[in-house]
Amino acid sequence: MSRIAKSFLSCFFPNKCLSCGTFFSFSEKSSLYPSFFNKTKKNLKYYLHQNRNDLFYDLMSAFLCKTCITQFSPVASPLCPKCGITFNTINDCDHLCHECITSKKYFNKAYSFGIYNRVFRTLIHQFKYNGMIHLAKPFGMFLFYAFYKNQEFNDTDIIAPVPLHIKRLRQRGYNQAYLLVRKWPYLLKILKKDEKNYSIKKELLIRLIPTISQTKLNKKQRKSNVKNAFKINPACNIKGKKILIVDDILTSGQTADECAKVLMKNHAASVNILTLARSVKEISC
Ligand SMILES: [Zn+2]
Ligand SMILES: [Zn+2]
Repeated sequence: MSRIAKSFLSCFFPNKCLSCGTFFSFSEKSSLYPSFFNKTKKNLKYYLHQNRNDLFYDLMSAFLCKTCITQFSPVASPLCPKCGITFNTINDCDHLCHECITSKKYFNKAYSFGIYNRVFRTLIHQFKYNGMIHLAKPFGMFLFYAFYKNQEFNDTDIIAPVPLHIKRLRQRGYNQAYLLVRKWPYLLKILKKDEKNYSIKKELLIRLIPTISQTKLNKKQRKSNVKNAFKINPACNIKGKKILIVDDILTSGQTADECAKVLMKNHAASVNILTLARSVKEISC
């Protein structure tokens, strides 16, 4: 389609912001999306050297108005190197938070791409509950970016999404955490990182209990809500393997730590956690 035809169409069919619902005109010139995904090989290395704000802008400007897109907040220091929670202090260095000092964690470290604020919460909600699975492409790229920047290539043998219970999977029709990493083998291959045979195992963990959403529970309730909720797929051998658990959001970290507990008790070498967004509600430094 010619550029003139595209701008003509955008006058009559402007994009609707996924966060606030405002209509806005989207100039393809201001974004490489969706051409980025048609030319991933050409653009991947370029994107991996952008900062998080620029990457978010480039891949989300077809979905968000100019006001909402500036609300994105990247995860940045000072933060807890264990659970990845960020601190509101300035001129401070990274340090363990109170929670990580006082409670045992089975995972080695957790990290995320962006802060779970109003805009990111709405986007993830559209992705999980409103069937907007095309957001898996930019979201998967954000997750891959965080993986790349944390230099996790040598610390990972198996990449595993947090599973849904079979009932929830049937209702929703997809596991959003798996969609985030589904294209990773292709991205790893472009970076020539496939020699080590990273494997993505979408059924490494099995969710035994259809747990209720963690969002409205307090810390104690969250812990008991996910207790013994997972088991290892008996067909998978994880002995001595370095495992990366991926999910959309990390809030209290109870779900992720329960997954890590099962993996470590079954002799995994280490478990790291990677999520798209990090809640900052429970800051304690
Ligand atoms: Zn908006
Ligand atoms: Zn911490």
